[in-house]
Amino acid sequence: MGLIKLENVSKIYNDRVKALDNVSLEIMKGDWVSIMGPSGSGKSTMLNIVGCMDTPTKGVVQIDGIDITNLNKKDLTAIRRDKIGLIFQQFHLVPYLTAVENVMLAQYYHSISDEDEALQALAKVGLQDRTEHFPSQLSGGEQQRVCIARALINYPKLILADEPTGNLDEENENMVMDLLSSLHKQGHTIVVVTHDLNVCKRAEREINMQHGKILGEMECEMVCKTG
Ligand code: ADP
Ligand code: ADP
Repeated sequence: MGLIKLENVSKIYNDRVKALDNVSLEIMKGDWVSIMGPSGSGKSTMLNIVGCMDTPTKGVVQIDGIDITNLNKKDLTAIRRDKIGLIFQQFHLVPYLTAVENVMLAQYYHSISDEDEALQALAKVGLQDRTEHFPSQLSGGEQQRVCIARALINYPKLILADEPTGNLDEENENMVMDLLSSLHKQGHTIVVVTHDLNVCKRAEREINMQHGKILGEMECEMVCKTG
């Protein structure tokens, strides 16, 4: 049974922009999938729907066996908090809170208040020496690692990342991708939207999108060998 299942999903904005066009897709527990495609091909729309931030115009979406297609905002939020960790290109850290306070803010939404656990999450991403720093005192790669610690706070089954390395240089990109790789090895299911081929190649499955449709799919090993 797939952790994510999309059946004939379409998303139409303002009655005319077809951002997703009859997409069907199954992602299994433990998969690491990248979604590639040019700007405007529907990647973010797909991630928003899978991440319970938006609902489709047509079709059926299941997350971890739950049909989320017709849920209201409140129920979608509950599922997102229970099952999904989100990582964005823009870090969305609160500038006047320290690294550990930013992670604790995520705990607040899960009704947890445990500084030790927040510190452990930061240690997991290698930031045990940066816990009292403010975002402005951290490098881009370190800020993204705070975001990953924040995303991990509720042990989410599913990690969704939208261009997680879009604002990083190559060294920090590698560090963040190594971290995602170790999370994958620990059993997390990972879906990364990217248009960076190096980021894409780290996944097991590559899904290519164009004009709101899935054009094709390949094993990433093949991309490495041929590319
Ligand atoms: P990508 O992430 O691949 O760049 P998007 O999913 O952001 O693609 O966008 C797909 C299409 O849907 C584009 O034509 C975009 O302009 C449009 N679109 C995305 N979000 C909205 C929105 N909230 N309102 C209207 N149109 C949107
Ligand atoms: P990406 O960097 O992933 O391509 P975009 O720049 O396409 O992201 O979209 C950023 C945000 O703006 C998204 O939340 C998307 O839903 C929204 N958006 C994109 N296109 C439009 C549009 N034409 N009208 C309104 N909102 C849009």
